[in-house]
Amino acid sequence: MSRQWPVSCSAGEGDTLGDIFRRREGKVTETKGMRERTASCGCGNLTVTTSGEPCEVHACSCLNCQRESGSAFTYGAIYPEAAVSIAGERRVWRRNVDSGRWIETEFCPTCGATVLSRMEYSPGTVGVPVGCFADPDFAKPEGFYWASRRHHWLQFSEDIESVETQPD
Ligand SMILES: [Zn+2]
Ligand SMILES: [Zn+2]
Repeated sequence: MSRQWPVSCSAGEGDTLGDIFRRREGKVTETKGMRERTASCGCGNLTVTTSGEPCEVHACSCLNCQRESGSAFTYGAIYPEAAVSIAGERRVWRRNVDSGRWIETEFCPTCGATVLSRMEYSPGTVGVPVGCFADPDFAKPEGFYWASRRHHWLQFSEDIESVETQPD
């Protein structure tokens, strides 16, 4: 099964069970029916506000992701660029990946946490590291990329599509 890339975006659709519970408790912020969430760096000086639901959520175990995150994999949500706003002082780092294309990350100069990424192969979209939302109920990854580089103990549930390298 092959995935379409870049993914098509349909922001604002689909409520998770967690959304329904939070709405009952009055903890969901909405603007024109679009759910807003705020992601933040470790020190809180740099924030990203997203509107609506992500187009795609994925995890990646490539060695670049491991180094940048200092962890076994990254867990990112992809949004249309227009659905995201960033506020606060930040630095930008652009690097070339194995495919020869670039990836750019925006991070806080105080605490160093990355809150946004842009990918040459997916124009018009940005990625937000899911951990920055500090929301354990956030949607699970649909795909797990670079499974061939995963740490030997790491096992995802079977409904998460595992891709040995990355989608074409
Ligand atoms: Zn910070
Ligand atoms: Zn990666």
